[in-house]
Amino acid sequence: MMSTPESRSETIGFVGLGMMGAPMARALGAAGHDLVVHDVRTDIAETLATQIGCKVAPDPRVLGEIASIVITMLPNGKIVRSAVLDGGIAEALPDGAVVIDMSSSEPLATRELGEMLAARGVTLVDAPVSGGVRKAVSAELAIMLGGDDDGVLDRVSPVLGAMGRVFRTGRLGSGHALKALNNYVSAAGLAAACEALIVGEAFGLDPERMVDVLNQSTGRNNSTENKLKPFVLSEKFREAGFAMDLMAKDVGTAADLADALDLPMPGLHDASDLWKRASEALGQGADHTEIYRFLDRMR
Ligand code: NAD
Repeated sequence: MMSTPESRSETIGFVGLGMMGAPMARALGAAGHDLVVHDVRTDIAETLATQIGCKVAPDPRVLGEIASIVITMLPNGKIVRSAVLDGGIAEALPDGAVVIDMSSSEPLATRELGEMLAARGVTLVDAPVSGGVRKAVSAELAIMLGGDDDGVLDRVSPVLGAMGRVFRTGRLGSGHALKALNNYVSAAGLAAACEALIVGEAFGLDPERMVDVLNQSTGRNNSTENKLKPFVLSEKFREAGFAMDLMAKDVGTAADLADALDLPMPGLHDASDLWKRASEALGQGADHTEIYRFLDRMR
């Protein structure tokens, strides 16, 4: 959806300018939105603000004083909650303001945060994204929008439309649930492809040839098409731009959701366990594509 003149008259506060947040804020700036940005790393906030010509808030409270819509793109839901409540954003926002959590957060905790914000006259919607850094840069993200107030969803949709395509997913928390489930499917596809490469190579198959054949066969998936050659076989793992610990968090979120719904789902729990172990073994800074390295060590 294109931005409308009405949505452009709101000041948008953007919190979290990392791998995803920076290009997303850039897309909002390019669409003509009035922006104020904040990150705990003031250096990256200042560099981005200089590049796109917007204001920097020295702390979250100041951002809340200026903005009527606040977007969070932070590592997880706990950090979102702490920035919004303890950081002073909620207290500073005017009545009728909206917080859009675009991070991959936990759906049940999102509902709780929504209730707390509603008591202060602020509406929370969840709008996590898929497509990675590549689609954030081209403003072609898939955006999963959940929320309880149709009027608010209509108000934020044109803003979100500057960063990608908006899919309404249902009530508050539904975007976060769908995002976690999507990443389970994505993580399982990547791990399966890496296991197949390792077994095939041990048998004497050529990995490049394997990827070519997988991509013309029924084993094809997003990872075989977009991750195996550019990041795994090339060993340029970290250029993929999605941290291993964030993927482990997302698969864990999907497993916790299944538990909360009393659904055993063995594949999901195995995947959650695998990604958690890989994340612990490879440590902070590892990219999710390094799941190959973790599996390869088992040769
Ligand atoms: P990142 O670690 O690159 O960026 C997070 C940013 O938040 C950093 O700049 C950090 O300094 C900042 N930050 C942390 N705590 C803060 C706080 N309290 N206040 C202000 N700023 C704070 O992470 P990312 O890859 O951009 O991911 C952000 C979110 O998007 C995560 O929830 C992730 O799961 C999700 N996501 C990532 C990708 C991807 O490909 N990288 C794709 C889809 C969704």
